[in-house]
Amino acid sequence: MKADEVRREVEAWLDAHWSPDRTLLEWRNILVDGGWAAPHWPTDWYGKGFDPVQMAIVRAAFAKKGAVGAAQSGPSGLAAETILTHGSGDQKQRYLRSILTGENAWCQLFSEPGSGSDLAGSSTKAESIDGQWIVSGQKVWNTSAHHADYGILLARSNFDLPKHQGLSYYLINMRQPGVEVRPLKQMNGHASFNEVFMTNAVVAAEDLIGGEGNGWAVAATTLSFERRGFSSTKDSSSLQGPRVGQIYDEFDTEMKIANEPYTWYPQRQGRVDLVIPRAKATGAIKDPAVRQEIAKLISMHKASALASAAAESRRKSGTNEVIPAGSIGKLAASVIARQASHVHTMISGADAMRSGTQSAESGMIAETLISTPAISIAGGTDEIQRNIISERVLGMPKEMRADTGPFRGIKRNE
Ligand SMILES: Cc1cc2nc3c(=O)[nH]c(=O)nc-3n(C[C@H](O)[C@H](O)[C@H](O)COP(=O)(O)OP(=O)(O)OC[C@H]3O[C@@H](n4cnc5c(N)ncnc54)[C@H](O)[C@@H]3O)c2cc1C
Repeated sequence: MKADEVRREVEAWLDAHWSPDRTLLEWRNILVDGGWAAPHWPTDWYGKGFDPVQMAIVRAAFAKKGAVGAAQSGPSGLAAETILTHGSGDQKQRYLRSILTGENAWCQLFSEPGSGSDLAGSSTKAESIDGQWIVSGQKVWNTSAHHADYGILLARSNFDLPKHQGLSYYLINMRQPGVEVRPLKQMNGHASFNEVFMTNAVVAAEDLIGGEGNGWAVAATTLSFERRGFSSTKDSSSLQGPRVGQIYDEFDTEMKIANEPYTWYPQRQGRVDLVIPRAKATGAIKDPAVRQEIAKLISMHKASALASAAAESRRKSGTNEVIPAGSIGKLAASVIARQASHVHTMISGADAMRSGTQSAESGMIAETLISTPAISIAGGTDEIQRNIISERVLGMPKEMRADTGPFRGIKRNE
């Protein structure tokens, strides 16, 4: 469908259906039925198969109308994309709609105290007993687990196979007695993460996804979506118009809860948007050394945005390139965030260390400096992205491995 046709169709549909006086749930169901909740999804599953250009037109039409979109955000988006790729018809039927309507929120249960980068070393145990899976073990750094109804879970169903082969992937109900969620506090004062303890937690047989022993392949799908930025949240500020009607109150409440773990995410990306205004306001813009570093930052930032848009559109057009665009984009985001912190430090000097309302940008610069390290860790560290690029793109020799053979016999960090 051409750009003009997309614009006409979405605008006509919004004119006919949008009303801020509906409840959020009523509206979301209409949205899902009309195929406008996730138009980039396949036509069989609530979507229209739209590409990024068509999606941009849809988003602009929703913003112009002030219309609320689907509730796909954070780890729920990762769950949805994974279920779309690997789920059975029954799993898609049971889970996708409630992700779009916002009735259910998800979290990602991958990392463990002894296996983060070495994700395939997961030792959470899943045993098939009497037609269901019984899960015991500990996960950590689980963003939004304290709000989640369900989790996407990587666990070991066979300890006698080599480590990548003994893993399975499950959809687990978080609201059960065998699952305990304990919040963690970060150095920037926010509390986005949790530890999740599972003790004989139950997963129904039909909630194994991708087949027993295929967990690693399914997890790779989730991680590739995560590295392409699918775990980011939605911004409601782009909605135009008067925002009057009951739906906006419900939507604002939903956004407040869903975005609470992510309020510092713009800071972890380096707040590139603040650099030039602050350089002008402080007079640092007159310093040629600062200007040089700003120019470096802005060019990296623009080049990275263009490269990821190009990669996304190549992916949508079905090119089978061996370029792990997610890894390259993620690494670029880390480099940009670090450079932005460096420039903020040059501009603000010692003031960059102060928090509170009297400090630089009401503490935003200080929060940026202590939040940017997270972007080099979340979703796979910089070193891991470099390993992926060196092995899969540059064809360099693989790392030496001491972890072959049955998982039970491998020495691990306990
Ligand atoms: C903001 C944020 C959000 C997160 N959200 C979630 C979530 O929702 N769910 C979830 O499951 N996890 C989540 N995580 C956890 C994240 O995936 C892990 O922290 C990450 O994979 C690194 O694992 P680790 O912390 O165990 O570090 P380790 O794996 O112990 O790494 C320690 C250091 O060793 C380096 N290293 C390790 N292996 C190698 C190697 N082979 N070659 C070179 N260097 C290596 C690493 O690069 C790192 O510098 C989140 C983390 C952050 C920061």
